[in-house]
Amino acid sequence: MITKKAYAKVNLSLDIVGFREDGYHLVRMVMQSLDIYDELVFERLDEPKIEVLLSEDTKDKGAASSAPADKLGAVPLDESNLVYKVAKLMLEKYVRRRDPKAGVRIILTKNIPIAAGMAGGSSDAAATFKGMNELFELGLMDKEMMEMATPLGADIPYCIMGGTALSEGIGEVLTKLPELPKCTFLVAKPPISVSTGEAYGGYDKMIEAYETSPGSYSDFKHPDVDGQVDAIYAGSLKGVTDLFGNVLEYVTSKNHPEIKELEQIMIEGGAINSMMSGSGPTVFGIFDDTEKAEAVRKTIEEKGLANQLFVTVPV
Ligand code: ATP
Repeated sequence: MITKKAYAKVNLSLDIVGFREDGYHLVRMVMQSLDIYDELVFERLDEPKIEVLLSEDTKDKGAASSAPADKLGAVPLDESNLVYKVAKLMLEKYVRRRDPKAGVRIILTKNIPIAAGMAGGSSDAAATFKGMNELFELGLMDKEMMEMATPLGADIPYCIMGGTALSEGIGEVLTKLPELPKCTFLVAKPPISVSTGEAYGGYDKMIEAYETSPGSYSDFKHPDVDGQVDAIYAGSLKGVTDLFGNVLEYVTSKNHPEIKELEQIMIEGGAINSMMSGSGPTVFGIFDDTEKAEAVRKTIEEKGLANQLFVTVPV
């Protein structure tokens, strides 16, 4: 039996810089993993089947359910779960050649907010590559697993790498960056789910409108991703937070005003800065003082603006 942690990520910046011929968006973003994680337990089975189950703990919390795959905010337990897809790929490509009866049971404990811009599914997939690699003693290098992962999801290679990284291409071109200076994150997930596809679609429509009438989008700007990378190399937390920016925030926060409200509460409560992660709706703030972060957590809890809240650190 093998246990793996799957860490959540946030984006410290997220820019869209173009399109690939096949329609994928080309991105430039700074990724940071946080000490918020799902847990996956892997067990060999002597029958050729793949079982993906939710732990009792996860079921009790009601954070996930065996809902149909298309239900946002729930973890599907069928073939559409990324954990299942990775397990199937690894079994078919490597294991069943020598052991046709090999199977696996994977028990998932879900803590990462779902459909929230924190790459929960991608991170579970990354942990499954690593777990399967160890359980079946395949001896694969991270680089090999990262290459195999891209067609399943562009954020999975980053989740295999973890830490602080610049992500380019469709998300699969990665540059490892130095660690962030010591700091505390407050993460707040409002009680709504956002589909990544819809957020990107909304961005395309917004850009079309922006090109015909830029005046009506006077607050729109692309983030300075290179400047933020320089600030990370310089070890300047203020430099990093001054250059927070996420082009998808224009789309998601228009539909969900509570995002701006959360950011304002965090800043008023002493965050150095605050922004939305990925396609949202999760909002995070960076603090140089954990007590301030805890106090803001309490304020947000009392106002009922988030159903999942974490005070955490980068990993
Ligand atoms: P990203 O930040 O990469 O856009 P996200 O946080 O917005 O990701 P996820 O939590 O990964 O979104 O889930 C998006 C959808 O993926 C869910 O609605 C669910 O149907 C599906 N999904 C597939 N596998 C998983 C998994 N292991 N955990 C959670 N969701 C999964």
